[in-house]
Amino acid sequence: MAYIYDEMNIFARILRGEIPNNTVMETDHTLAFRDIAPQAPDHVLVIPKGPYVNFDHFSNVASDAEIVDFYRTAGTVCAMLGIEPSMGGAGYRAITNAGDNGVQEVPHYHLHILAGRNLGRMLNRV
Ligand code: 5GP
Repeated sequence: MAYIYDEMNIFARILRGEIPNNTVMETDHTLAFRDIAPQAPDHVLVIPKGPYVNFDHFSNVASDAEIVDFYRTAGTVCAMLGIEPSMGGAGYRAITNAGDNGVQEVPHYHLHILAGRNLGRMLNRV
């Protein structure tokens, strides 16, 4: 099996400038923007600019520079939103979905940063 990246996915189109986005922060390797259908008062998506389908693809294949830049950007977004618990913020959830069981809708790696309300337990027991 190999990683197959769909160049027509919606985030690839955002990165090519074909679809507008509400940018929070942009670096050489990373883009952070507001989710179009927010599930919390703050709902930011952090994506690498490279063609990675999900977390394991990015973690296994991306360069050190891309990985460092991605997580530094995600951390800076937390600071920009004022949600860091150690800095007096009320906290947040950072999650990523992958594949069918993860119910990933957009096949370009993205980290959801959700904040602004109590998010409840992460998963319900089954
Ligand atoms: P997933 O289910 O793949 O983890 O999350 C995909 C996310 O992308 C969803 O939260 C959805 O609202 C968001 N999304 C889908 N299309 C667009 C779009 O065109 N623009 C933005 N900003 N977000 C989108």
